[in-house]
Amino acid sequence: MLSIKDLCAKVEEKNILKGLSIEVKPGEVHAIMGPNGSGKSTLGNVLSGRPGYEATSGSVLFKGHDLLDMDTEERAREGLFLAFQYPVEIPGVSNMEFLKAAVDAKRKHQALPELSSVEFMKLARETSKRVSLDPGFLKRGVNEGFSGGEKKRNEIMQMMLLEPDLCILDETDSGLDIDALQVVADGVNAMRDGKRSFLVVTHYQRLLDYIVPDYVHVLAGGRIVKSGDKSLALELEAKGYGWLEGEVA
Ligand code: ADP
Ligand code: MG
Ligand code: MG
Repeated sequence: MLSIKDLCAKVEEKNILKGLSIEVKPGEVHAIMGPNGSGKSTLGNVLSGRPGYEATSGSVLFKGHDLLDMDTEERAREGLFLAFQYPVEIPGVSNMEFLKAAVDAKRKHQALPELSSVEFMKLARETSKRVSLDPGFLKRGVNEGFSGGEKKRNEIMQMMLLEPDLCILDETDSGLDIDALQVVADGVNAMRDGKRSFLVVTHYQRLLDYIVPDYVHVLAGGRIVKSGDKSLALELEAKGYGWLEGEVA
């Protein structure tokens, strides 16, 4: 699904990723943990092709294609989805219009017929209920005035509607109370199907009680300094990141 080899990337002339490698097979859930400022969001931004985040060396294959060669739209059409740490507000564009445009583009790429407004409305309303978001949020501007938790649930709703092959969740748990966390985790778990893969970026072990990862990686200093199974997350929770400093150096 995703093969990252020795990836280096810079932001604003600053080298952030310094030789990062990860292999994600279809159906796997990989958690990425690590101290603040270690490059976790940068990794998501580089993978999704966000302007300003530049890969300088290394390679990334997504479903066998050179991901770094594709523009942002192509990456999304090919089935890459990034749920942002800080979802953006788009006043003036209704959530419904936004979601329909995204789903239309995806279906067109798959040579599927466009859903009628009525069909889409039904699907969107059902999906909003799955993430415990009142369907009234579909009529509002994208994320406009949504609370932190509502924005995160809206991101998961987008993800459910787009049915991506690779989902990257960047600290989707931050700012969520325990009930919202459960909703988000249930949404992700409902989408796990043995083919779809997930990169789950999180600061805290707590989310991984609900979304149980196959692998856990620690990103520090722009590289993966340690990998393990879910027990590594518990070890990090107990010991913090300081004990890995030797490995970062
Ligand atoms: P994390 O998500 O692990 O907390 P980030 O990837 O957000 O870390 O940030 C890694 C480093 O890159 C930090 O030093 C941060 O200040 C810097 N950085 C990230 N994005 C930008 C940007 N758009 N402009 C300038 N610096 C950035
Ligand atoms: Mg951070
Ligand atoms: Mg971050």
